[in-house]
Amino acid sequence: MRILVVEDEAKVASFIRRALEEESYAVDVCADGAQGLELAGAGSYDLIVLDLMLPGLSGLEALKGLRKQKIKTPVLILTARSQVDQKVTGLDAGADDYLTKPFAIEELLARVRVLLRRGSGEAAGLLQVDDLVLNPATRDVTRAGQRIELTTKEYALLEYMMRNAGRVLTRPMIAEHVWNLDFDTFTNVIDVYVNYLRNKIDRGQKRKLIQTVRGSGYTLKSESE
Ligand code: CA
Repeated sequence: MRILVVEDEAKVASFIRRALEEESYAVDVCADGAQGLELAGAGSYDLIVLDLMLPGLSGLEALKGLRKQKIKTPVLILTARSQVDQKVTGLDAGADDYLTKPFAIEELLARVRVLLRRGSGEAAGLLQVDDLVLNPATRDVTRAGQRIELTTKEYALLEYMMRNAGRVLTRPMIAEHVWNLDFDTFTNVIDVYVNYLRNKIDRGQKRKLIQTVRGSGYTLKSESE
């Protein structure tokens, strides 16, 4: 899951970045509204954390710009306590949720999870493909009821694949969403991690869920589909 953080206070921005990265999200940070709008339009983000008080183009203007371009990425706005009325304006302008500064990082993470869940159209919170189940809230992964232990990167890769189940995911897409890096230097690493996942998810199972799409990339789905 790839998140854009638009926040001009360097300390706050790096605090948020660190917390999100620890949760294995891929994070980009930028410090002004105009650049934020540009990045949000160009990159494929799963969520945007947007401060309202920004130099140049304000967060509110950036948000309006995004929605005008029909970019529907969920947006969590950050407002100062003195800007309570901005909350309402922000929500009216197309924000999906807001947090008032100062906030507890745990609350930010919880709201991020909710918005990502909502964005993927997931109802009960659990992601399921065949008998493989992933719980984003607890990070528990089971196959046929058996618990599977994953490393942080393996988990991030699996969550991305499950949220996009049935879709062909190219290596550049995976690199961007899971590693937040350009694809060029990354070919091998993706194949290596997909193999790690295969060993944990599919080995010894009758139905293989991780499929190679020759010449394209990978997809996660039941063989029967
Ligand atoms: Ca600010």
